[in-house]
Amino acid sequence: MMQLSNTPISSFFINGREIFIKRDDLLHPEFSGNKARKLAYFLEKDFSHIITLISYGGVQSNLMYSLSALAKLKGWQFIYYSNRVSARAKLAEYGNLAESIRNGMQLIELSEKNLNEYVKIRHTSNFELIIEQGAAQAEAKFGITKLADELREWVQENNIKKPILFLPSGTGATAFYLQNALEEYDVYTTNCVGSSQYLQEQWSALGKSSKLPKVLDNNLYTFAKPYLELWQTYNYIKELAGVEFDLIYDPIGWKMLLQDLSNLDGTVIYIHCGGLLGNSTMQERYYFSYPQLKNIG
Ligand SMILES: *Cc1c(COP(=O)(O)O)cnc(C)c1O
Repeated sequence: MMQLSNTPISSFFINGREIFIKRDDLLHPEFSGNKARKLAYFLEKDFSHIITLISYGGVQSNLMYSLSALAKLKGWQFIYYSNRVSARAKLAEYGNLAESIRNGMQLIELSEKNLNEYVKIRHTSNFELIIEQGAAQAEAKFGITKLADELREWVQENNIKKPILFLPSGTGATAFYLQNALEEYDVYTTNCVGSSQYLQEQWSALGKSSKLPKVLDNNLYTFAKPYLELWQTYNYIKELAGVEFDLIYDPIGWKMLLQDLSNLDGTVIYIHCGGLLGNSTMQERYYFSYPQLKNIG
């Protein structure tokens, strides 16, 4: 039986302040972190009429890999559209792309700018299931509400007075549905992809909400680009917490959170969103940009 919910919460100290971590990285590796939560609906409900799964986006995507595992598990074909894929990415023997292809994913490269529109026009059959880029869609709410229930139960059992939930955002769907399901607490996030304005637009596209997450504005770091200070943050937290985090979202998440920590009045619970399979390829990119890191680790 795959573990797809009910993860533990661990903690560590930063300057005497206890920080908690919701260990969703301990979910089944094929559906790790928030991708397990976002795809829970498709895993649990009956989709036996489906023949082909369709999705699109970048080939570093953690979601793409989880989709390939989902398709394999369900016996579906899986077609994934992406804009031009670099030769280096295609040659990688491990990481999200290599593993997805091993799971049977069919990668189609397009120069089309609007992949969303392309997919919607082309795939209209009832036997095809389209999952949006990043699974930013209403079905994600199902699994994220389960995550919210687990957090609420833990907060109540441990008598935490003012919980502050934090996670870094890509599409922002996880933060949005988490705040929706836990209106009594504050959810904080930071924009890793695009501006904080982009995140607000993503949220209005997902629907109405009486309470939105609060954004610690990242206007410094470009998505999936190596930065020495983020590498330091990644290693600092890894050492201090004894937990490995993903190298794309979490270094930005921790950097922004640590910067603002003294202004945040409450008990911080960081949601570990998994995604460690992508670390090997991101580490390569760090070594490529900063060869000196190879020796000092
Ligand atoms: C996908 C992902 C996120 C962002 O999730 P969104 O719901 O798209 O905001 C954050 N962290 C990790 C490790 C992820 O894989």
